[in-house]
Amino acid sequence: MNTQLTVPMKVAIDMPRQVDDEVAGDIEKESVFVSPAIDRIVVSEDGKSATVVLKDRRNLDAVMDKAARFLDVMAKQVSGYEIKVFFETKRKDEGPYQRDVNSGLVERGWLHDYGKGQVAYNGPVLKLARLINEKAAELYKREYDATDGHFPALVDSETLHKCGYFDSHPNAVTFIGNMVEDFDAIEEFRAANSCSEGAHMPPQDHVHMDGMCLNPAACFPAYPTLKGKRYQTGECFTWMGRVFRYESRNISGLDRLFEFNVRELVFVGTDDYVKDVRNRALPLVEELASFFDIDCKLQTATDPFFATVSAAKKFWQAAQEVKNEIKIPVLDADGKTTNIACGSINLHGNFFGERFDIEDTEGNAAMTGCVGLGIERWVLAVFTQHGYDPDRWPEAVREKIFD
Ligand code: ATP
Ligand code: ZN
Ligand code: MG
Repeated sequence: MNTQLTVPMKVAIDMPRQVDDEVAGDIEKESVFVSPAIDRIVVSEDGKSATVVLKDRRNLDAVMDKAARFLDVMAKQVSGYEIKVFFETKRKDEGPYQRDVNSGLVERGWLHDYGKGQVAYNGPVLKLARLINEKAAELYKREYDATDGHFPALVDSETLHKCGYFDSHPNAVTFIGNMVEDFDAIEEFRAANSCSEGAHMPPQDHVHMDGMCLNPAACFPAYPTLKGKRYQTGECFTWMGRVFRYESRNISGLDRLFEFNVRELVFVGTDDYVKDVRNRALPLVEELASFFDIDCKLQTATDPFFATVSAAKKFWQAAQEVKNEIKIPVLDADGKTTNIACGSINLHGNFFGERFDIEDTEGNAAMTGCVGLGIERWVLAVFTQHGYDPDRWPEAVREKIFD
C-alpha cells in the first residue's frame, strides 16, 4: 500500500487496479460504509488512485488497512459490461432543464425536507406524485388486470433473511428498537425527557431489537402471502409500497431518501407467463414516459450490492440481463446532467418461489419478477425536464397538476 499524507485529513492510496467511471461511482457511494473514521473515498479521474477523506486520524494504520481491503474487493468488479438500451424516449418540450429542483420546490412551499432523508409535500408536487402512481396503476390494470393490494411498512427479519437481503445489502437495513418491558427503565427514560431541552435516547441495554425491520424493497412483503399457491399460468399484483433504506451520508434531496414510495408490480407464475409480463412491461414504461413527455432510457443494469458480494452477483445479473433500469436525465446542483434510476424491471428466476413455497401446477417452483417505480425520483425528473411554467407541461398532465 502506497499511502502518502497530502493535506491534513486526506490520504492518497493506490487503487489495486485501474477502475472505470461506473466502478468509481460505486466506490464513492459505498465508501460511507467503510469506517466511522472515514468520511468518504474519492477515486481519481484516471481511476488509478483514490483519496481517503478522514474524519478522525486515530488508529490511522488500521483505518487505512480497512480502506485498502474495501478497495480491493470493489476493484474486483468486472466493469465495462455491454449496456443494452431497449428504448429511448425524447421529450417534445424544448425548454431547458431546470436546475436545482429540490431547492426550487422548497422555495415554492411545495416540499419540506426534514434533512434526514424524509420529505413532506403538497400542492403540485403531491398532485404529480399521485398522478405518476395512478397512471402506472392504470396501465398495470389495463395490461395485466393486476390485483390491487396493501402491504405493511414493517417486515420481520425471517422474511428479509429468506429474501436474501441480509446477504446482499446488509448496510441498508433499518432495525426497529423498543424499550425493554421494565418499569424502572421506562420510568428512567420518561424522567430524562420530562422538561428536558432536547430528546434523550435510552441507554442501549434498555432497548431491545427483536427482528422487526423497516421494509427495504417494495415487493418483499408480498411473497409470504403467496405461500401454498399453485399456478397454471400466473397472476399480477400492484400497490404503492413505502420503502426505507439506510443510505447514510449519501442522502440527498428527492433523489436519495431514507424513506420513499414505490409503485410496485409483482408477477408470479410459470416461466412463460413471467417472461411475457416482463416483455410487455417495456412498452408500458415507454408509454408512461411519453405521457409525462420526458427524455428517458431503459437499459440493462446491476444492483448496488454490498462490497464483498458485489463482483460475483453483479457479473451474474449483467450476464443474465435480469435487471433493467429506467434512467432519466436530471441536473445536479452544479448543473451537470446525470442519469438517475427511476425504476427497475427485475426477473428473480425461481428464487422467491423456492423460498416461499409457491409453485406451478406441475410442481416446479414458480418464477417471479417485479417492476418498481421510485415516485419521488420521477417527481424530481419531471420537474427538472419541464420547470415551473405550466405552459411547458403536456396538457393532460398540466390540468391535473396546476390549478
Ligand atoms: P440506486 O442504484 O440508485 O441505489 P437501486 O438500483 O438500489 O437504486 P432498486 O432496488 O431497483 O434501486 O429500487 C427501485 C427504485 O426505487 C429505484 O429505481 C429508484 O427509483 C427508487 N429508489 C431506490 N433507492 C432510493 C432512494 N434512496 N431514494 C429514493 N428513491 C429510491
Ligand atoms: Zn421488487
Ligand atoms: Mg441501481
